[in-house]
Amino acid sequence: MADRYIDFANSDIGRRLVGAIGLPAPVHLERWEAGRQRPVEGALLIGGNGLLLASLAPGFDRLTPAVFTAPGWTPETGPRLKAMIFDASAITSAEQLGELRDFFQPALKHLDTCPHVLILGRPPESLRDPWAATAQRALEGFSRSLGKEIRHGGTVQLLYVAEGAEPQLEGALRFFLTPKSAYVSGQVLRLVACTDHVQDWSRPLAGKRALVTGAARGIGAAIAETLARDGAHVVLLDVPQARESLDALAARLGGIAVALDIAAPNAGQELVAALPEGIDIVVHNAGITQDKSLKNMTPAMWDHVMAINLQAPYRLTQALLENGKLHDHGRVVLLASVSGIAGNFGQSNYAASKAGLIGLAAAWAPALAERGISINAVAPGFIETHMTAAMPFTPREAGRRLSALGQGGQPQDVAETVAWLAQPGSGAVSGQVLRVCGQSLLGA
Ligand code: NAD
Repeated sequence: MADRYIDFANSDIGRRLVGAIGLPAPVHLERWEAGRQRPVEGALLIGGNGLLLASLAPGFDRLTPAVFTAPGWTPETGPRLKAMIFDASAITSAEQLGELRDFFQPALKHLDTCPHVLILGRPPESLRDPWAATAQRALEGFSRSLGKEIRHGGTVQLLYVAEGAEPQLEGALRFFLTPKSAYVSGQVLRLVACTDHVQDWSRPLAGKRALVTGAARGIGAAIAETLARDGAHVVLLDVPQARESLDALAARLGGIAVALDIAAPNAGQELVAALPEGIDIVVHNAGITQDKSLKNMTPAMWDHVMAINLQAPYRLTQALLENGKLHDHGRVVLLASVSGIAGNFGQSNYAASKAGLIGLAAAWAPALAERGISINAVAPGFIETHMTAAMPFTPREAGRRLSALGQGGQPQDVAETVAWLAQPGSGAVSGQVLRVCGQSLLGA
């Protein structure tokens, strides 16, 4: 469903009115388009004294030719900024946290539209010195506040980079500093060492086979398109009733269609039979809502949502593992929801199922890591799809506006996030949840 308010807020008259009465002023977000030449199209400012920048330096000119360092760039002489990286990993005391203010304050007045900011630190739990761990933990509050202040469609994330994870930073930058993460903001993620690497940045998933459930429409269809764009051979799964659109999409993407109800008793066996060559990437996207306040919720509504949203991803993954179908160094992505983090009126069943998926990723990650397999949850906020178009006006508008970016996301935003987590080098991230919610205030 089109969000007409964004068009209005960006019209001449709308801009004046919105500014005068203090309404949200969302901008049209830039998104990744095919044929883009450079990951960052504009100026990149780097600062901070940590060692992480040194490991990144050889890759900077692959991102953009316009790289500036903090002392050399000034708002008076430098170009407007499209991206910023601040390496805060050397900050070991509260006194040094002022370096964040010194770096960001002048830059904030000289930003291009839709700028992307990345702050790098060391995982606080890995530091022995309590004062250093405290300073690193403080970065979370700073980065999330900056996300709420940056405006112009900007995003801000914090990456805690463990020792040995440095080689995977380029893949993270290619996501977090570009329009691929247009609707991801206020996130804190940990990177650990990973032996897998992307060979070709133009087709990072080349040679991989990827299964997407619920792929006939909405977010699932966008995920299938994006994984195929990145070089994966896709297997599209959806219910038999969706066969027509599933077949059409599979034909367009050169993939395979599998018509199967994931909650059917024999779904595991049927899936195993449909994947004779096994699979590298599994995206559990199929999901449903059956909303009712708890006092009126029937057992059938509860059971149906649990069976499809939570039990099926677990059982299908288990069946793939037991039958040797999920390859070593595989990537598993579970579609959770911000509802599973914040809770939501009328969604006790749905929120429980989605919180369960977040728990499943955390619980399974250590065992799967022994085979180099990662498992993560992606939690979308308000995404413009059939599911959200069916919402009543007031919660729909609240869902869109109650976020730092002041708008809903697009299926492509979720798809880009899944595609990044599916990359070989993204084995550096596991057992975590990444929100795609425009820094929604729900569950913040
Ligand atoms: P959608 O309803 O548009 O699409 C879901 C797809 O899953 C459909 O094609 C449907 O046929 C398929 N499906 C449902 N039950 C199935 C089953 N038993 N077996 C196989 N396929 C089945 O939903 P969407 O908005 O694209 O959401 C995709 C995922 O993202 C869901 O897991 C949803 O909970 C999650 N999510 C969506 C939003 C949002 O704002 N749209 C927000 C948070 C989370």
